Amino acid sequence: EYGPAPESDAEARDWIATRGPDFGHFIDGGFTDAGQGFAAKNPATGEEIARLTQGSAHDVEVAVAAAAKAFSKWSKLPGHARAKYLYALARLLQKHARLFAVLETLDNGKPIRESRDIDVPLAQRHFYYHAGLAQLMDSEMPGHAPLGVCGQIIPWNFPLLMLAWKIAPALAAGNTVVLKPAEYTSLTALLFADICREAGLPKGVVNIVTGDGATGEALVTHPDVAKIAFTGSTAVGRRIREATAGSGKSLTLELGGKSPYIVFDDADIDSAIEGLVDAIWFNQGQVCCAGSRLLVQESIAEDFHARLKARMDKLRVGDPLDKCIDVGALVDPVQHQTITRMVEANTEGEVYRAQVPMPEQGCFYPPTLITGLSPAAPLMQDEIFGPVLVSTTFRTPSEAVELANNTRYGLAATLWSENLNLALDIAPKLAAGVVWVNATNLFDAAAPFGGVRESGFGREGGWEGLSAYLKPKAKLTPRKPVAP
Ligand code: NAD
Repeated sequence: EYGPAPESDAEARDWIATRGPDFGHFIDGGFTDAGQGFAAKNPATGEEIARLTQGSAHDVEVAVAAAAKAFSKWSKLPGHARAKYLYALARLLQKHARLFAVLETLDNGKPIRESRDIDVPLAQRHFYYHAGLAQLMDSEMPGHAPLGVCGQIIPWNFPLLMLAWKIAPALAAGNTVVLKPAEYTSLTALLFADICREAGLPKGVVNIVTGDGATGEALVTHPDVAKIAFTGSTAVGRRIREATAGSGKSLTLELGGKSPYIVFDDADIDSAIEGLVDAIWFNQGQVCCAGSRLLVQESIAEDFHARLKARMDKLRVGDPLDKCIDVGALVDPVQHQTITRMVEANTEGEVYRAQVPMPEQGCFYPPTLITGLSPAAPLMQDEIFGPVLVSTTFRTPSEAVELANNTRYGLAATLWSENLNLALDIAPKLAAGVVWVNATNLFDAAAPFGGVRESGFGREGGWEGLSAYLKPKAKLTPRKPVAP
């Protein structure tokens, strides 16, 4: 209805049929036989597209042993030798970009425009960038050593991109990894395993074990894992922190958010509205740094909300493989139920749902705006992780800062104003790992990303991100006795 024919999924389905459709783990350079497990579903249709193996403690054990064995050689390669593999992986992500994008969309439900133009290119960039860092490591980071086997646990909202954020720096720094993708979205991780083989990556450097939280726990508690890098919910992050306390493991946590999106009365309103579309309806709002809390100056609030509603009514919700779709499917019916329950439990304000045609089946939720909430309302405080924007108003800049920081999270913040002095005054006062001014959701492999407060600690990207995969190692040479 909205334009060109949907992107073909033939190649992705071929890959599933020939490599699967029952998938095992990727351990020590090869795929294991498929075992008991669970279904991978296309959330736009509910169709089962593959079956995945539930990783047992034994599977984790075997994968960690393979990674430990590989570490002894991989960690001793000079940085430029590791860089060659990272460049090869980056180039193969480019070569198979279309396959990765379509498979991601089939498995996750995100619009093909996003997987094709955002997820896959950013993942490539992450490998290129870290190939560069690997080359520089020996000269720029002398006196640093890799940690060992890194256990990496990722969520379902950006499956390939989160994999890239984890694997690229770990390998660049000389570590080996066991990665556990989220149970809803493991397919692009398994396709990545394929390109590890195509790149000739030494066996055991990258291992992928599929499964749910229990598989993750086995990885977290394994004594030979030197570091856990986790991205996911604050609740699970807290459990992991408790489980690793006193174990000597390094830990980085990238957790949830409830990021403020502040619009001052002198803002370029059209741009601020387009920014909001990106902030909260990109990836159906399933974005840790989503601008999910709109704070708009009272004097323009009525007009702003009216224009926002008109823009919402132009969003196109539907088949994620359609190249003109703005809002695709939520990842899973469970997520749909959670969001529905949260919105139904709300007793304040006014709920507006975009007046748009909705698909009759599949896991779709309409773009939603809830105005007139008090700052303490649960929906103003709790992460919804869906296409639901909540809004309140402020009168003065200091009130805007107070409201923005009235959260237990601190991942990102966005502010819109044409007044440079105001922007420069407000930005440093916002408690967040990143502040975007007159823009939103800007990412780069060179820019360290991460949160404060309950959004976690540690950074991914840039030298800071690489450092989280290294330990300082002092080298003291005995001084020759000096003749008196
Ligand atoms: P989740 O915490 O439920 O799951 C994340 C991963 O942890 C999955 O792979 C899951 O299988 C695994 N897991 C679950 N229980 C575990 C346990 N006890 N031990 C070890 N591993 C376990 O989160 P989710 O629902 O998949 O993802 C959504 C959350 O992730 C949101 O809160 C979002 O804000 C956050 N997120 C944060 C960032 C960031 O960079 N800060 C990025 C993306 C998503």
